[in-house]
Amino acid sequence: MKPRALVIGGSLGGLFAAHLLRSVGWDAVVFERIAEDLASRGVGIGTHNALAELMQRIGLPSGEMGVEVRSSICLDRTGRIAQEMPISRIMSSWSSYYRPLREALPEDCYHAGKSLVRIEQGANGVAAVFADGSRAEGDLVVGADGIRSGVRAQLLPAAQPAYAGYVAWRAVAEEAELPESFRPIFDCYSFCLPEREMVLSYPVPGRDGGTRPGRRGYNVVWYRPAAFATELPRLCTDASGRCHGVAIPPPLIRADVVAALRDVARAQLAPAIAEIVLRTQQPFFQAIFDLESPRLAFGRVVLLGDAAFVARPHVGAGVTKAAVDAAALADALAAESGLDAALARYERLQRGLGSAIVARGRRLGAYLDGSAPTRDPHELMREHSAKIKFTHTTSAGQRSGQLRPDTRIDYYYD
Ligand SMILES: Cc1cc2nc3c(=O)[nH]c(=O)nc-3n(C[C@H](O)[C@H](O)[C@H](O)COP(=O)(O)OP(=O)(O)OC[C@H]3O[C@@H](n4cnc5c(N)ncnc54)[C@H](O)[C@@H]3O)c2cc1C
Repeated sequence: MKPRALVIGGSLGGLFAAHLLRSVGWDAVVFERIAEDLASRGVGIGTHNALAELMQRIGLPSGEMGVEVRSSICLDRTGRIAQEMPISRIMSSWSSYYRPLREALPEDCYHAGKSLVRIEQGANGVAAVFADGSRAEGDLVVGADGIRSGVRAQLLPAAQPAYAGYVAWRAVAEEAELPESFRPIFDCYSFCLPEREMVLSYPVPGRDGGTRPGRRGYNVVWYRPAAFATELPRLCTDASGRCHGVAIPPPLIRADVVAALRDVARAQLAPAIAEIVLRTQQPFFQAIFDLESPRLAFGRVVLLGDAAFVARPHVGAGVTKAAVDAAALADALAAESGLDAALARYERLQRGLGSAIVARGRRLGAYLDGSAPTRDPHELMREHSAKIKFTHTTSAGQRSGQLRPDTRIDYYYD
């Protein structure tokens, strides 16, 4: 009988894990807390080559998944291009990966509406217990349940996300709904740099997944400082006066908060970027946290993706890292004969990678959290457009099943 993995969390990390574990002879079943289809999480993401390679390894198409950008520009308040540099990146959207991964998984391997409450480990197996009272049994639990992971909370309660001191507002507009004069920015990765703030904007697949001119979307990520004790709770308080902690559902963001954002957009951003903020009916924000886990393996339980490490989004690699974690786990299970040895190998590889990415996110975000002096715009643009090469997933040795003794990541620009 095949060994069985219980994957907790049915987002991209969990889906990559299920596919890649199945490809090395495991029976993998996903349990996702949210009952509805997740595909509406339509935010834009930056991609790296490893993501396309892992889609191919699963047997899914990786072409036309995103929009290619060949130029990075910095726009001043009037809309003039103050800096420009050639880059080569593919920008995509979360749902462009979610949909094919979800559809390719057999229906009986994905259970929606299952919220994990605890894990019970025994000598011969492990069980996941869910809020509806049901339980599932297997040989391994994969915690792919994100930054607020309940799996991690049970095993590693001291590892807590650290607030970066700022939020990311997000807005998106469809190319087809914008005047022709917007066309030039759709080919660019653009920056606006108000004092101690950063607005990054780039093309993404449109609402229907279109990646060709006329059918794309333009995604705005606007980092703004928000003090933890004062401004963040103010932003997260709805019109009835209830504070939702550090994350408020988008429809509950107060009208006066959105109106104030629009005023600042008009006053401080390049007109084209401001217009996208103004046209977005429901801009929303995410408070930025990062996280480092000192351990990833606990007997028959392992953490991956955002449950294990979260870098600030400047690195633009959270999805790729979740996919690379899943591949490293599958490869370790295939290469080692015992579970303990496989998980130890996985932990050794991915802990170094996670720490390196978190450190890079902190360095790039230092301009915003006030811990570094104002940065040269050219340098900021160059660092944000770097591609990451995940050496161990792309090496010939890896493909033949021989893992390198450690994971290296390199940043490169072309
Ligand atoms: C502003 C911003 C910009 C970003 N930009 C990029 C980018 O450009 N490129 C990029 O690659 N990444 C980007 N990211 C990061 C990226 O979104 C994440 O790294 C990625 O989604 C991680 O996937 P995951 O599957 O590990 O976790 P998640 O996507 O968080 O999924 C966790 C899943 O677990 C489920 N879950 C939680 N608790 C339970 C439970 N108890 N039981 C069952 N299920 C549970 C959740 O419902 C969720 O579906 C960005 C993030 C932010 C905030």
